[in-house]
Amino acid sequence: MLAGEGARVLVLEADARVGGRIRTLDDAEGRPEAGGAEIGPFYARVHRLVDDLGLRIVSRPSLGQGMAIHVRTGLVPASAWGTHPDNPVRGEHRGVPPFALEAALMQKVAPLPAPESWLEQEAAGLDGPYDRLLLGLGARPEMLPLVAVGNPLGRLSRVSALWMIRRHTLRQHSRAHGDLAFLDGGMSRLPDAMAARLGDAVHLATPVVAIRQGRADVEVRTADGRRWRAGRAIVTTPAPLTARLAFEPAPPPAIAAAWRALPYGQAMSVFLPVHAPFWEEDGLPPSIWSRQLGGRVFHVENAAGSYLWFYASGPEAASLQRLSAPDAIALVQARLEALRPSLVGRLGAPSALCWSRHRWARGTFASRHPGGLAALQERLRSPFGRVHFAGEHTADLAMGIEGALESGERAALEVLA
Ligand SMILES: Cc1cc2nc3c(=O)[nH]c(=O)nc-3n(C[C@H](O)[C@H](O)[C@H](O)COP(=O)(O)OP(=O)(O)OC[C@H]3O[C@@H](n4cnc5c(N)ncnc54)[C@H](O)[C@@H]3O)c2cc1C
Repeated sequence: MLAGEGARVLVLEADARVGGRIRTLDDAEGRPEAGGAEIGPFYARVHRLVDDLGLRIVSRPSLGQGMAIHVRTGLVPASAWGTHPDNPVRGEHRGVPPFALEAALMQKVAPLPAPESWLEQEAAGLDGPYDRLLLGLGARPEMLPLVAVGNPLGRLSRVSALWMIRRHTLRQHSRAHGDLAFLDGGMSRLPDAMAARLGDAVHLATPVVAIRQGRADVEVRTADGRRWRAGRAIVTTPAPLTARLAFEPAPPPAIAAAWRALPYGQAMSVFLPVHAPFWEEDGLPPSIWSRQLGGRVFHVENAAGSYLWFYASGPEAASLQRLSAPDAIALVQARLEALRPSLVGRLGAPSALCWSRHRWARGTFASRHPGGLAALQERLRSPFGRVHFAGEHTADLAMGIEGALESGERAALEVLA
């Protein structure tokens, strides 16, 4: 946008590649998507950019009929869950599979009137702990650990209910208006094409370490000792990494505290290419929801093949991320094969990615603790002198990839103004 308006732009990227938390593992079998990949029907900016850059959106094959459930012993089909001894839930929700519990409860919540309503005064009363909201909606205490399996922060008392209502509102609108889609050739083709358009303005493997601003310009120092001058800077790093930059003058303490305190999801992904339809042998759905393994196993199909995406969050992710990648892969594969013998001999060479440990990410995506959401948002998105801020954690309307683009657009407009 800035280049299109005639500005001279420069992109300083720490990693050896562009894309950040969008990452198609092009060299891995089945070309799995390790980061943001699903394009929502409301992603207007993504759709426009895809068209502009000559790329193509393709429909996302259905993720299959539900998931097999694993809570204590073996795998349980959703149809048998209501009467199964492993099911800890009593009362009206006993027959609801654990992966559908959250949606069953949240459907009782009225969606927010508009995407930005979470920032308005009237919404502040909803900004309490998420577990309390769920209990108020009729959840029984034994349901909460099951709902927590899919939550990026794991501990529901530490998640803002208003934040979850915001997510719920966007999902509701999305579901009502179309299907999720993928990018042809993998999601990384989008940032690749954006960077190619900017040509040699993009400097890879050039981490920023310090930002000093004067009255008339900004000086950015990179790890290699070089100094870069510009009229303005836009910082798009995830908040934990922004907190490590040396700013001169220092940012207001409330802003620095907001960067440090913003919670990010912790997760570990293992991708296992599928060579044969193992589900035909055991008659269960290919995808698995497992409390025991601390996560979910999604069966994904794309043009390059089909793979299982094991996605652990919470305490299980924390223990897996302490292992080396080969050890984590071996452990996950062994546990999955023990749980589901039909997988043995039907999987290809696995790969893994841990965003929590990734040097230039430090987490999956931003969440929010209960309390003060609107004030926090103001701190995260407000310019500080000649330095502006973008990135998914600063977006007001959309989340994920569309939120990242929305925030970049907002920061570009601030600079142009
Ligand atoms: C597993 C996973 C699945 C997801 N699924 C979806 C999905 O299906 N749909 C969706 O819409 N969203 C999804 N998301 C979220 C989406 O990927 C992110 O919200 C979005 O990509 C974030 O973009 P960003 O520009 O804010 O940050 P990033 O993509 O993280 O970009 C920040 C950039 O800053 C660089 N950087 C960091 N520190 C420095 C430094 N000191 N100097 C210079 N550069 C630095 C990083 O290398 C990176 O390139 C998913 C995310 C994950 C992790």
